[in-house]
Amino acid sequence: MYSKYLRYKAFKTISDVVTENNVQAWVVGGFVRDIFLKRESKDIDVVVLGSGIEIAEKIAKQIGKKGEAKYFKNFGTAMLRMREFEVEFVGARKESYRKDSRKPIVEDGTLEDDQNRRDFTINALALSLNKDNFGELIDPFNGMEDLKAQIIRTPLDPDITFSDDPLRMMRGIRFASQLNFNIHKETFKAIQRNAKRIKIVSKERINDELHKIVLSAKPSVGFKLLEESGLLKLIFPQLLELKGTEKREGKGHKDNFYHTLQVLDNIAKTTDNLWLRWAAILHDIAKPATKKFDSVNGWTFHGHEFKGAKMVPAIFKKMKLPLNDKMEYVRKMVLLHLRPIVLAEDIVTDSAIRRLLFEAGDDIDDLMTLCEADITSKNKDKVKRYLKNFEVVRRKLVEIEEKDRLRNWQPPISGEIIMEAFGIKPCKDVGIIKTAIREAILDGIIGNNYEEAYQLMLQEGKKLGYTAVN
Ligand code: ATP
Repeated sequence: MYSKYLRYKAFKTISDVVTENNVQAWVVGGFVRDIFLKRESKDIDVVVLGSGIEIAEKIAKQIGKKGEAKYFKNFGTAMLRMREFEVEFVGARKESYRKDSRKPIVEDGTLEDDQNRRDFTINALALSLNKDNFGELIDPFNGMEDLKAQIIRTPLDPDITFSDDPLRMMRGIRFASQLNFNIHKETFKAIQRNAKRIKIVSKERINDELHKIVLSAKPSVGFKLLEESGLLKLIFPQLLELKGTEKREGKGHKDNFYHTLQVLDNIAKTTDNLWLRWAAILHDIAKPATKKFDSVNGWTFHGHEFKGAKMVPAIFKKMKLPLNDKMEYVRKMVLLHLRPIVLAEDIVTDSAIRRLLFEAGDDIDDLMTLCEADITSKNKDKVKRYLKNFEVVRRKLVEIEEKDRLRNWQPPISGEIIMEAFGIKPCKDVGIIKTAIREAILDGIIGNNYEEAYQLMLQEGKKLGYTAVN
């Protein structure tokens, strides 16, 4: 946490330089909001009447960092590191928009113009850095009242604000989720009316906001707002398909949308791992596609973990989420998410634990975290029983791992050894023998060591008509 003194020092240094140069300047936006919310923020935005780049240069010189300000000439902005703060200097601007783009036409403007172009009243606060009223709050839209009342509201006509830059709809919902604020009724209605405009926003920018919602303390707040506003249907329709219940012959099933949000809120209490939270969002994604009803079993979703794992790459691709190891991790979590539950229901055998360790590898702890979050039953005894069984599973995992070291394990007999032993070239049979050895070790039929594995290799080879060459 930075001290108030350091903040004051930074403001004062800027103030002295702007005063000396006869320029006016203010701290605006998120940094001011976060001072009043007592949130730690290190990015200071300074608006000047004039050139942000020139002032940044002068301040850099003043603090002995001549030449260290970074310039973005195209945007007319400059960044300067002042102790723990990243300070961005920009000339006050006035913006106007065209229908087909969220990139505005920008002209020089006044402080008032600059505050008018801000997205929400709580983001339009400015603090003076000018000598005659240093530290004074300029709050033309009653942002302080909204901060106190915990309201997200646009400063101007919300229909224009959102139509101009539809990303602001995502930002509004993101702030509501991060800060646990309410969106003002008229502002929210305008989001509903303008939801379709989201199509002009790039998926990358949408994802930036989506990730911030996912990472908030109670992400369900944001997802419920996305759903009610109509945005969810447009940016992530598969999640919406989980919504709803159905009853047949007196038997119903739970609403998987709300269940998923509950799992997400649960996991948010124990991890800040963004991709584990995404795994929570996607763990039941194939329930609609696998849903069946019969009179004996009622509603079933057999194989939803396999189907769900298959859906993950397509969803990531469509949403432009990263198609890398993060996706692979989420896919694996979705695939394995029922395994510890099955173990917790059954008598926990060593071989089942061994298999799980082998398949989950280093992600086993994350998988257990996901499974614990997945217990959302209202029946307290049931929850208690499951969590107790998970403890048994966790204990066993540690025990077996200590004994067998199966995390990231490679069986003791490789394909090369098999080919060399029988004098054969790479072929399907090598794979068959390798799999037989692996399965026998995982099932505990043979020990996890070279000698026993070699003996089994000879037996399996024989079955396929091979004899060892020496
Ligand atoms: P955080 O730091 O939590 O991501 P922030 O809004 O404080 O959120 P930025 O996204 O850097 O941080 O934005 C800084 C300020 O710029 C905002 O407080 C707001 O005044 C303004 N702003 C940012 N994006 C927009 C936008 N799309 N439309 C209007 N104003 C915006």
